[in-house]
Amino acid sequence: MTEETLPSFASLNLAPAIARVIDEIGYESPSPIQAQSIPPLLEGRDLLGQAQTGTGKTAAFALPLLSRLDPALKHPQILVLTPTRELALQVAEAMQTYARHLPDFQVLPVYGGQNMGQQLRMLARGVQAVVGTPGRIQDHLRRGTLRLERLLAVVVDEADEMLKMGFIEDVEQILEHAPAQRQVALFSATMPKEVLQVARRQLKEPVEIRIKAKTATVETISQRFWQVKGLHKLDALTRILEAEDIEAMIVFVRTKTATVELSEKLEARGFSSAPLNGDMTQAMREKTIERLRGGGLDIVVATDVAARGLDVPRISHVINYDIPYDTEAYIHRIGRTGRAGREGKAILFVAPREMRMLSAIEQATRQPITAMSLPTRKDITDRRVGLFKEQIATAMESQDLEFFEEFIDSYQSEYDVGLRRIAATLAYLVQKDRPLQPEGGFAEEKVEPEPPPRARPARARESRDGNWQRYRIEVGRAHKVEPGNIVGAITNEANLSSRDIGQIKIYDAFSLVDLPRDLAPEALRRLQGVWVCGQRLQISEDRGAGQEAGGKPVKRRLLAKGGDQRPFKAGAKKPPHSRRGPKGGK
Ligand code: ADP
Ligand code: MG
Repeated sequence: MTEETLPSFASLNLAPAIARVIDEIGYESPSPIQAQSIPPLLEGRDLLGQAQTGTGKTAAFALPLLSRLDPALKHPQILVLTPTRELALQVAEAMQTYARHLPDFQVLPVYGGQNMGQQLRMLARGVQAVVGTPGRIQDHLRRGTLRLERLLAVVVDEADEMLKMGFIEDVEQILEHAPAQRQVALFSATMPKEVLQVARRQLKEPVEIRIKAKTATVETISQRFWQVKGLHKLDALTRILEAEDIEAMIVFVRTKTATVELSEKLEARGFSSAPLNGDMTQAMREKTIERLRGGGLDIVVATDVAARGLDVPRISHVINYDIPYDTEAYIHRIGRTGRAGREGKAILFVAPREMRMLSAIEQATRQPITAMSLPTRKDITDRRVGLFKEQIATAMESQDLEFFEEFIDSYQSEYDVGLRRIAATLAYLVQKDRPLQPEGGFAEEKVEPEPPPRARPARARESRDGNWQRYRIEVGRAHKVEPGNIVGAITNEANLSSRDIGQIKIYDAFSLVDLPRDLAPEALRRLQGVWVCGQRLQISEDRGAGQEAGGKPVKRRLLAKGGDQRPFKAGAKKPPHSRRGPKGGK
């Protein structure tokens, strides 16, 4: 395991307008493929790059090529070929972002099934970069609506996928249309021989880069992964924090900005947490690490660079909140735990499209990473109850309780209440600030099925109190929506936490959701266009609200079972903080 330092973005000589964006986005240092690809691509050389998904290939080609293009020229200078429309859109979006400070820069995504007229108008108006699937690009070449004569560079992204999908011949034909002196960069996660042959024929003395998976053993560390699904990563992390025995934890994210944001969110949820990133002075970083070492701090949210070489024996857990770029970074990261012969635990959050990186990591560490399911509400309750019992037992053994025993005797005779009831009340008081039964943040739990609404029932329901506004969204049971989908979409797009989302009621054709009354208009505007289960949310204030029933406050509890506005069923558990009347049931 080497801990050599990666070059900085500043040393790579990107165009100033591009370097500025990198700074704004908060990328701290180039990923290995970026560090190796950017210099030759800036020089105009051809490149053959082999690297897994998630290693930062888009920026590896986009940053140098955007640095080289001339935004004053209104014809295609960069062509990127991707296997799918999703990738075309993603790459186009990333390029538009990276080119934020290039005046009048325009990138056009081009793929099948998209309105041709609009593509043609954009092409006629002049775009500097085109990103598309090979089939649609071929269409445009045949019609003469896309001309490649003055192309500077062609990028073939995910060439092995192109091969699998039967596009590799199209790719080669397109490359043959491009001018002879064009630069070509070809990226592929694997190098099947058909891809290599295309590379041999089409690339001129390419620089070859291979981000190898180094192997290393990490035997004292147990490794698990959670596939990101139906629940926001922040909520998943919160549950893990609640349910595992954690001494200290380091959470890895990709950007400097994310270290600060996530750390603030954890603080807001009551965990002591601090960021650790390369923007902080050496002195600040050392101070944070010392607090972590001494137990004054339990969670540090870090970038790879800032946490390099960090050696704090207390760290019992490493969370890969954002997946690392390569297996080497993963090994560095998890090596922050299991130090000094202790046992360490590593947890990796993996989005479905990152599953390939997961198997690469397993190969590199030669150890299985087991799938984990998130702790349930019951797990968390059990753990808190267990800790509470321990606390009681310890105090019972170690403290002199005579004064309190007398107090109980006197209370009992004075108020004529049973011991069980007194003890329960005291237990409530002890835990009320941090209830034994967790609430909120359990988005993937289903809401209790509602009876199908009759005659404008939803609108008739009261939903307002001082802080909440009920909104209607145009996705419902008929679209197979689950509360988690709604929570996920809203938290992502409106920059809210799941705690900011009140009740959700799902009906056949639409749903109702309570959101903070002071939600920014900008957030609402963004939510208009968000797609959930194939439907646009088209969020609107639920106008029927408030016509019936008298201003009963909406509970903030998120989808807690029985936590609706209905009275608790007999025998159902009350939430720990539910107040009973002073004379209530004895
Ligand atoms: P790949 O094409 O190899 O699958 P992407 O280019 O899609 O990888 O990058 C994956 C993610 O990593 C993106 O969210 C991107 O914004 C982020 N990323 C890329 N380079 C860096 C960097 N140097 N620092 C931080 N994040 C980065
Ligand atoms: Mg990519």
